[in-house]
Amino acid sequence: MPLLSNILKTKKLSKRGRSTTPSFVCEVPLQVLPSQEPVLQTRFEAARQCYNALLGEALRRLRLMQQSQAYQAARKIPRGITHLAERKAAFKQIRQSMGFTEYALSRYATTIHHSWIGDHVDAVIGQTLAHRAFDAVDKMALGRAKKVRFKGRRGIHQIGSLEGKSNQAGLRWRTDHLEWGSLALPMISGVEHDPIIAYGLTHPIKYVRLVRRNLRGQDRYYAQLICEGIPLRKLDPQSGRFQHPLGSDMVGLDIGPSTIGVVGETQASLQRFAEEIVRDHATLRREQRHADRQRRANNPDCYDAQGRAIKGKHPRNKSRRQRHTEARIRDLHRKEAAHRKTLHGQLAHRILAQGTIILTEKLSYKAFQKRWGRSISIRAPRLFLTILTRKAESAGGQVIEFNTRTTALSQTCLCGQKHKKRLSERVHTCECGVTMQRDLFSAYLARFVEDDALQVAKARESWLGSEPILRTAWQQATQNQPASGQRQPSSFGRFVSGPSQSRSPEKENLPEFKASDAVTEAQVSARAGERMTVEVFRTPRL
Ligand SMILES: [Zn+2]
Repeated sequence: MPLLSNILKTKKLSKRGRSTTPSFVCEVPLQVLPSQEPVLQTRFEAARQCYNALLGEALRRLRLMQQSQAYQAARKIPRGITHLAERKAAFKQIRQSMGFTEYALSRYATTIHHSWIGDHVDAVIGQTLAHRAFDAVDKMALGRAKKVRFKGRRGIHQIGSLEGKSNQAGLRWRTDHLEWGSLALPMISGVEHDPIIAYGLTHPIKYVRLVRRNLRGQDRYYAQLICEGIPLRKLDPQSGRFQHPLGSDMVGLDIGPSTIGVVGETQASLQRFAEEIVRDHATLRREQRHADRQRRANNPDCYDAQGRAIKGKHPRNKSRRQRHTEARIRDLHRKEAAHRKTLHGQLAHRILAQGTIILTEKLSYKAFQKRWGRSISIRAPRLFLTILTRKAESAGGQVIEFNTRTTALSQTCLCGQKHKKRLSERVHTCECGVTMQRDLFSAYLARFVEDDALQVAKARESWLGSEPILRTAWQQATQNQPASGQRQPSSFGRFVSGPSQSRSPEKENLPEFKASDAVTEAQVSARAGERMTVEVFRTPRL
């Protein structure tokens, strides 16, 4: 187990290559007087318009850049290694000359500042907004995003947070209150007794973020203090030990669109992500249908006789009741997100209790989104991995994502054979006698990946000891009734009780064993057929 002092010393490189010290976030609820509320609202509105202006400007510059002859010429430079440096330099030069850099955009932010916006938002916030806007458009420039989103006045696309750069200017925290220009917002009295907040307040603050959330139709404000150090580890009041113990196993994960297989040395499990959310999601859907009916009733001209939306007509009339429904939907969305975060956090702690070095495949979650959009938006596997990575790192461990192509875990067997499987084949069955649920087997193999390559020999050595653990996990997964009240997901496959001991892959490879177990090819395939208890895989239903 790495010492805490070592964790503090390890400096990470941020996205921009700056070295960063470890930090954690401490959230403090703020008390806002009725006289201060309109001031805050005006400032958030000014920030929103500032952000939109910056986003628009960045987009304009991107388009101009892409239309330029120099850009078109740079695109023609081949992508190969020999031309890599040349290509890179050419694009860098064009970006600079066309003003498509973060620096140029933050200079543009100062010109916005000479307008009315400058009376409400300070220059530092302008710079952080420029950073956000540039990041969004840069993703588009690099082909990682299709479009950018302008911030709306209300709803999920409103601007939810503002942040500074240091605790010296703009938003700053002073002992027990947030200072921002003429405003001083104290923390809600009593929260200083909360152990987590008390712990955060004793640490040096890097910068402060002001968050606005809408709770049951009311705006609430929170200060998020970005503190230097490592987060508090909670103690259990009864035993006096850490509430979330840390294990020392190597843990392998197999993350699917809706399920996760976890395999450690002594424990394994196969479960679904955020199961409770799926159950509660029905309420949200009902409210969404309600709002849709209200929208149609309030804007009959926008729909044709068959109820289809007429192109170019936008439903703008809203009844008081529709506004209420929409407020409820916003609240349900917020609750759902918070609940999901809690469940993901709990699962992460359960995994860290097994071990803090975690191995998993590097997956394209975008491909997940394309194929299982709705399921992904509710279960959010990528968010889970982000949370797990953060928690593992602050515990001194790490999440290692390895290459799928070089390892091909779902196809590989302990005997070294490769069987290409369809997604519908949920059970890994091999002639050598290995029969295991596919996800659990992949998670098991993940533990033996070193430098993007699977160490098959090591995996084979430990298989005899691990197989019963995996089998128990498989059995439990197929027996447990899902919390959503739906039937068991077919992705778990039908449980197959263990093969006879003699059919271990190790013995299989010994020559004398082979001789005594001489079976014809037809018999082998017949036996394999028996074990092929594969159910047809369906897209996860929600
Ligand atoms: Zn095999």
